[in-house]
Amino acid sequence: MARALSWIEIDTRAIADNLRAFRAQLRDSQLMAVVKGEAYGHGMLPVARAALDAGADWLGTFNLHEALELCRAGLAEVPVLVLGYVPISDLAEAIDHGIRITVSSPETAEAAGRIASEQASRAFLHLKLETGTHRLGLEGAALERTLAVIEKIPQLVLEGAHTHFANIEDTTEHDYARMQLERFEQQLAAIRQAGHELRQPHTACTAAAILFPRTHFAMVRVGIGMYGLWPSKETFLSALQENKPAPALRPALTWKTRVAQVKRVPAGAYVGYGCTYRCTRETLLAILPVGYANGYDRLLSNRGHVLIGGLRAPIRGRVCMNLTMVDVTDVPSVSLEDEVVLLGEQGDEKITAELMASWAQTINYEVVTRADPYAPRRVLGPDGRVEAYLPRPGAMLPGSDP
Ligand SMILES: *Cc1c(COP(=O)(O)O)cnc(C)c1O
Repeated sequence: MARALSWIEIDTRAIADNLRAFRAQLRDSQLMAVVKGEAYGHGMLPVARAALDAGADWLGTFNLHEALELCRAGLAEVPVLVLGYVPISDLAEAIDHGIRITVSSPETAEAAGRIASEQASRAFLHLKLETGTHRLGLEGAALERTLAVIEKIPQLVLEGAHTHFANIEDTTEHDYARMQLERFEQQLAAIRQAGHELRQPHTACTAAAILFPRTHFAMVRVGIGMYGLWPSKETFLSALQENKPAPALRPALTWKTRVAQVKRVPAGAYVGYGCTYRCTRETLLAILPVGYANGYDRLLSNRGHVLIGGLRAPIRGRVCMNLTMVDVTDVPSVSLEDEVVLLGEQGDEKITAELMASWAQTINYEVVTRADPYAPRRVLGPDGRVEAYLPRPGAMLPGSDP
């Protein structure tokens, strides 16, 4: 097999330690490991495995494909909840596998009821309640219609209800989150008054889990924190301000490549497309085999740096589709195929997801989630050695999209 030009290392010890740090802050609430978006770019299967080993009680995905992949890999040892939308035509498969379904419309409840009755099996539903985020979510008459459907059909088990906060990461003022929490509590009370047991209410993402114990309910849904990242600077500041016990988090992902050429160019030489960089001195360049086709953001052009030999090497010129040039004039003895860190630590230096996010005008969530989806993942196990290697995904399937 040809050698990978760039790759991503996932430290499952960090995943496990981060999850345990959240567990330590919970009283009786269960812990859901959120593994949507290919586990925020880390690789869903190894992350789910590590999360289960560290005691996760639930797994959360965005879609049914991910949930079925967990089932096929034998990782559905705990309940799996699809947090996003399940198409009506896929409900039968979800119910068949005992996958928990988020319900955000009465049509979904009706169809699930029909299928569960036909199959003489039970369907486990979690209502998504609208409290002010205004993405998926039920309220008012649609909620009442949905509840009426569930009441009629004994095969439908209303296991949970959840909501998601709109404005908890981006601010140190949490009035809007408190308002959403109040709405959720009112809706919950009304649903219970109507006779539903509803064992499993849940609202908390990472920021809520850290800042507001009142949001924990039966379960917290931890995503970004499990990957060792804070949801935002504001969340960190709020935790300090309000004297909340801040979990010690350690990033799990390192993105690496190797030097593909080293070359000396004279003062005055231009570098890359558009001749946007001109060398002010004789310059030693290292050419890296990674570019925007690999998720290395073009906004890093003439702005970001990489780590080589434990030192920072600034990007010169534009990031190309598959190549990037960096200045290693001040890095001693750089050689062909030296290891380069694009994201993560090397020696005493580190490039955090937050730093890369500031270069690319985005947030740490997007930086890790979009880190080269085609690069192989080297999975470091409990002893810190590579215990699995996931080659490039994306096999071609015969036939057409159903
Ligand atoms: C992604 C997601 C989470 C996890 O959020 P983090 O901020 O990453 O912890 C929780 N709940 C829902 C519904 C989500 O979509």
